[in-house]
Amino acid sequence: MAKIKKLLIANRGEISLRIMRTAREMGIETVAVYSEADRLSPHVKFADEAICLGPAASSESYLLGEKIIKVCKQLNVDAIHPGYGFLSENAAFAKKVTDSGLIFVGPSPEAIEVMGSKLAAKQAVSKYDIPLVPGTEEAISDIPEAKKIAKEIGYPILIKASAGGGGKGMRIVENEKEFEEQMERAISEAVSAFGDGAVFIEKYITSPRHIEIQILGDQQGNIVYLFERECSIQRRHQKVIEEAPSSVVTAEMRKAMGEAAVGVAKACNYYGAGTVEFIVDEKLNFYFLEMNTRLQVEHPVTEMITGKDLVKEQILIAEGNPISFSQEDLKINGHSIEVRVYAEDPKNNFLPDIGTLETYSRPQGPGIRVDDGFEEGMKIPIYYDPMISKLITHAETREDAINRMIRAIDDYQITGIETTLGFCKFALEHEAFRSGNFDTKFVQQYFTPEVLDPSFSDEEKEMMVALAVEFFTHAQSSLKVGESQTVKESAWRKRLD
Ligand code: ADP
Ligand code: ADP
Ligand code: MG
Repeated sequence: MAKIKKLLIANRGEISLRIMRTAREMGIETVAVYSEADRLSPHVKFADEAICLGPAASSESYLLGEKIIKVCKQLNVDAIHPGYGFLSENAAFAKKVTDSGLIFVGPSPEAIEVMGSKLAAKQAVSKYDIPLVPGTEEAISDIPEAKKIAKEIGYPILIKASAGGGGKGMRIVENEKEFEEQMERAISEAVSAFGDGAVFIEKYITSPRHIEIQILGDQQGNIVYLFERECSIQRRHQKVIEEAPSSVVTAEMRKAMGEAAVGVAKACNYYGAGTVEFIVDEKLNFYFLEMNTRLQVEHPVTEMITGKDLVKEQILIAEGNPISFSQEDLKINGHSIEVRVYAEDPKNNFLPDIGTLETYSRPQGPGIRVDDGFEEGMKIPIYYDPMISKLITHAETREDAINRMIRAIDDYQITGIETTLGFCKFALEHEAFRSGNFDTKFVQQYFTPEVLDPSFSDEEKEMMVALAVEFFTHAQSSLKVGESQTVKESAWRKRLD
């Protein structure tokens, strides 16, 4: 067993901080890396030691694997945690890390490689009786042949880049007429975005839910599943709201999906934390989509309902310890929701809205967790993913978790940039979300920018003016100077929201 004494986190922002907090609790020293754009970041201040890797661009800083390994040697680091994004799913990097005698907090390079290719992953699981979306099992480039297969599967179909990720590299084809053009585009996009033109065809599930299973495996070969996360509220095929458990998954379905996920993990001798993603159709049939061989952005909701610290488990497993609990020990406790707070403008097609966090004040109270990596006054850099934070709530029931989240969103004060908070509040209040009856089309189906910009009727406006006058008179006569500001703001908000 190799005890980790000093851990380098090859990442930035919220996930770097989140990992370091657990490391410190475990008595492990922490080393942060940063780019010139992140010099003043909380993750740099929190770490025991911090090393600047280079200029802002990821390719000149966070993606410099060799340089990061060199830093480890200089500082006597014994393990690297890659977080998510950046080098986390880079098999060659994982191999270099282990070859240089360091511990990689993650799975084997072989497992990363197999699961990094959606096609290789499908082939690897074929022996394990895992349901797959109908489609091609191999890369396809011959257009007449591909057309024939598409017809057999039935339109609409999805052309997917085998090496794709982060919601990129997918094209929906509605009918045969569009096929050729879309296929050509898909291949050229796959080449330019992922350096690999391999594409394949999948049946496009029209009203799908995205439900994934968290798994943990150890180097002794034990694998457990930590239940599901519902991630169907997405924009651009990328998640914005996640929750655990899912409101449509029954105990029976949970067991079946959990066991399928364990099968996927076994197919690549997986160890560490991983996520097996499934797409679920209207009849609640589930199909394996892909496996993410890293800590997932939305892992906190699983931590809230299981009481397990997934980063701590990752570190213990990387040291060679067997998982300290069994499948039977795991229980679901209450309900948890996460909203991703992005520096994006939902009124402008969710395009990044980069700027300075002029006001930044976090919500507080029981059952609320904020994972972030910024402070008031900081700029959100344009070079990276525009996520500001993750706001997580936990409560006894789904309804309580939703109500708690709405309260937390109201208490979260961010000015200076547009964020996804208003959109998330809209979604949480929506009947479709409340009832649990929604799919990945939620945004297209229900969201228009106007819902965030209610224009009031004349009658409503008159009422607001009357209320304002009444409030002002009341405030004048009963409040001490100094108190009026806060009271005025909150009362206004209650009436106008
Ligand atoms: P998760 O899969 O953890 O739910 P995302 O899909 O948002 O979350 O991906 C996590 C991070 O990894 C994001 O910053 C995303 O941009 C990045 N990412 C995921 N896959 C790739 C990829 N193949 N190439 C580049 N970046 C990726
Ligand atoms: P990525 O690597 O980009 O995360 P995924 O295969 O996990 O790619 O797909 C991302 C999202 O795209 C899914 O969550 C889902 O919303 C949508 N999607 C993927 N495959 C299908 C499909 N066959 N039918 C319908 N939607 C799909
Ligand atoms: Mg995915």
